[in-house]
Amino acid sequence: MAKRIQFARTGGPEVLELVDVTPAEPGPGEVRVRHQAVGLNFIDIYFRTGLYPAPALPSGLGTEGAGVVEAVGEGVEHLAVGDRVAYAQGPLGAYAESHVLPAEKVVTLPDGIDAETAAAAMLKGLTVQYLLRQTYPLQGGETILFHAAAGGVGSIACQWAKALGVKLIGTVSSPEKAALAEKNGAWATIDTTREDVVERVRELTGGAMCDVVYDSVGKDTWETSLDCLKKRGLMVSFGNASGPVEGVNIGILNQKGSLFVTRPSLNGYADTRERLEAMAADLFARIESGEVSIDIGQRYPLAEAAEAQEALAGRKTTGSTVLIP
Ligand code: NDP
Repeated sequence: MAKRIQFARTGGPEVLELVDVTPAEPGPGEVRVRHQAVGLNFIDIYFRTGLYPAPALPSGLGTEGAGVVEAVGEGVEHLAVGDRVAYAQGPLGAYAESHVLPAEKVVTLPDGIDAETAAAAMLKGLTVQYLLRQTYPLQGGETILFHAAAGGVGSIACQWAKALGVKLIGTVSSPEKAALAEKNGAWATIDTTREDVVERVRELTGGAMCDVVYDSVGKDTWETSLDCLKKRGLMVSFGNASGPVEGVNIGILNQKGSLFVTRPSLNGYADTRERLEAMAADLFARIESGEVSIDIGQRYPLAEAAEAQEALAGRKTTGSTVLIP
């Protein structure tokens, strides 16, 4: 038997339950990974609350894990039993001791990257890869606003932006988070609990404002974020930590300076094996070179997934969080 977290109805953290299941055998094109660490992500909360619908209930939760291949289905050629691997785009069910998923979603880990680092880095790091290198290929000297700069995605973004010579202005909600983002290479930080974001961006940029705003907060920050852009700047809305952005009149993009807006997701960028491998190679190279170091701010036992999610939703975490089976 293997332990897994599942939920039979959507709701608060209390809907998560730890159950014993018989591990499934991998079908054609699938592998079973024995987890050494599981990644905790905000998207898991969207599935638990029902903002993103799970395909069926009861459902497993979590899409990211790292460990060792323990069974291989028919037709899988790039993986073998015993390989050290990680994935970020599994079907729901990563909050478990083991998980069966399509082999095409699984990448082999380089020797220099351990399982905990991989579980903390894959989903968030691949996200930063496409945000900074593909959604808008940033150039040295450009200025960006990045919300939640001390969080999981944000901590990686601060370091990667710095390596690119990009001036990242990060929003945070406490002095401790500001210090962490600055340690990670943020060019400047704005404490949203006591500073006006648009005014501070104006001051910091000498009135020039930002080339790109990366906004994962959603509802609460949509309009403020648009006001931080230069004319013809790009708004990248990539998350809903405060709730989804809804009811937008696109005329606002005209009023605020012929702005561009996009609403990307990892699955829209790492959508083929070739693209996933290229993005993972870029991420792993940044980690191995030391340009990006993965900050695991919290570790929880798998059985405490509900507490871990509460801390993430309650803005109490910094960096990445992993669950240990
Ligand atoms: P974080 O560790 O960044 O945690 C979320 C942070 O958002 C909090 O720590 C908090 O930082 C900030 N925040 C602002 N407002 C709220 C609010 N109302 N409730 C909770 N948090 C708030 O999480 P992740 O690194 O897992 O993910 C970051 C964001 O990126 C999420 O919104 C997620 O959905 C999105 N994402 C999108 C992907 C995509 O491809 N589209 C892929 C991966 C992540 P502070 O207190 O400093 O303000």
